[in-house]
Order: sequence, then structure tokens, then C-alpha cells
Amino acid sequence: MQKPRKIPERMCAGCKERRPKRELWRVVRSPQGEVSLDATGKKSGRGAYLCPKNACLAQAKKRGSLARALECAIPDEVYAAMADELARLAPAGEEPCAKPAEKPAAGKAAQKQTGRPASKAAKPAGALE
Ligand SMILES: [Zn+2]
Repeated sequence: MQKPRKIPERMCAGCKERRPKRELWRVVRSPQGEVSLDATGKKSGRGAYLCPKNACLAQAKKRGSLARALECAIPDEVYAAMADELARLAPAGEEPCAKPAEKPAAGKAAQKQTGRPASKAAKPAGALE
């Protein structure tokens, strides 16, 4: 039998919602004063939390709430790193063509139309229409 464990919650510096800690990013200020994104949640230092979402990142930057939480300035490159990370994570649910397999016929047709290799024209179908 498993005992119900209390899930630690933290507040997002962007939307101010409380969420399970593991769903949030931890931004940490090291004892040396270096601010970085701590994806593992294991770095030592003072931490602040943020939903891995563009909206929360933008809010935290605009309001300076992340900087306030860490009591220091957040360098632009840290925000940039987080934006990069977001782009890389790109939640599958938001991509219209996140299907595992595409029909070969559709792919061929697209290639004929653009005359380019599919790798360069890998935009979600219908996104531009
Ligand atoms: Zn949030």
C-alpha cells in the first residue's frame, strides 16, 4: 500500500498560480550570484519557480517578478535560454500536425508544390492558410 504523499507546491512567478513543484521550472541564483534555469531542480541556491509557458515567462519578465523573487537582476540571456528551452519543448498539444505518421501521398504532393526538400518546408499544414 502506498501512502498518499503530499505534493510540494510552488507559486509561478508569472501567473502566480500554485502548481506541483515538478511541473514548474526552477530558476536558481547560485551562491556566486549566477542566475540560471535549473531543469533538474537540484542546483543549490535561491530558487524561483515558473510554469514552462511563454505566457508566464513573458509575465515574469514584464513584471520583474522573477527578479524580485530572486532578489537580483535576471540577465536577458537567462530569459533567452528559457525561451529557447520552450521552443525545444514545444508542447505537442499545441502543434496541429503532431501526428506520429504522415500520409506519404500528402508529403509527396507538398514536395512537388514547393519544389523544396521536405525538411525545409516542414511547417504544419494549414498554419499559413
Ligand atoms: Zn505560470
